[in-house]
Amino acid sequence: MRPSPEYIEHKFNAFNLLIFNGKLPLPPIKMSRARTFMGRLEYKREKTFLGKYRYSDFVIRISTFYDLPEEEIEDTLIHEMIHYHICFHQMQDTSAHGKLFRRMMNDINNSFGRHITISHKRSEQEMNQDTRTRSHFICIVWLNSGKVGIVIPTKTRIFNMWKIIPQFREVIRYKWVHSSDAFFNRFPRAMTPKFYIVEECLLEEHLKDAVELENTGHIIRPKK
Ligand SMILES: [Zn+2]
Repeated sequence: MRPSPEYIEHKFNAFNLLIFNGKLPLPPIKMSRARTFMGRLEYKREKTFLGKYRYSDFVIRISTFYDLPEEEIEDTLIHEMIHYHICFHQMQDTSAHGKLFRRMMNDINNSFGRHITISHKRSEQEMNQDTRTRSHFICIVWLNSGKVGIVIPTKTRIFNMWKIIPQFREVIRYKWVHSSDAFFNRFPRAMTPKFYIVEECLLEEHLKDAVELENTGHIIRPKK
C-alpha cells in the first residue's frame, strides 16, 4: 500500500496511545516521493548555553514512493515516533540511533511484536519498482581489482569527473555512456567519484541501449 496523510495520522494516534502513553502531540505529517528514505523526522535543533540541544518544530515525513506492506509502513512510522519521543522530551541520545533509541526500539519490538530496525535497507524488489525514465550519464570503470564499477555524477560534475577519473590509480580503463535504463535510478547522483561495484553481466544487460559518449571539451555528445 501507499499511505495517505490521513492514514498516517490515524496510525500515529493509535501508536501514541498504545506505545507512548498518549504523550506525543500530533506533529504535521507530510508526504514525500523520496526514494532515499522511508520516513524521516525533521526538526529545528539549537544548542543551549549548557551545550545541550533543544529540539522544536517537528515534522514527520513519510515517503509514498514504494508500495510496501502495511506492517513495514507501521514500523517506519514507529521508528520515526521513537526519534520524535526522544527529541520532543528533550532527551539527549548518544547518537542519531544511540543507546536510548536502541533500548526503546528493542523494548517496543519485544513488547509489541514489531520488527523495527535502525536502517531501512531497500530490497531488490523495492528498487525494481522504480521504473521512471531518467537520463543517466554513466562512467563505467574497470578497476585493477578485476571488478567493474560505475559512477553517475550530478549534471554539474560531469566535466570535472571526466577529467579526474583517469587519474585514479585503480582505474585501468573507463568509458562514458548515456542510458535511460531504469536500473540506474537506484544509484545516487555523485558529487565525487565513488565507484559502485556492479556485476559485469548485470551491467551489460542494462547497457543494451546505451550510447557511448565523447567530450569535446565543452560539450558531451554521442561518440562519432
Ligand atoms: Zn532513524
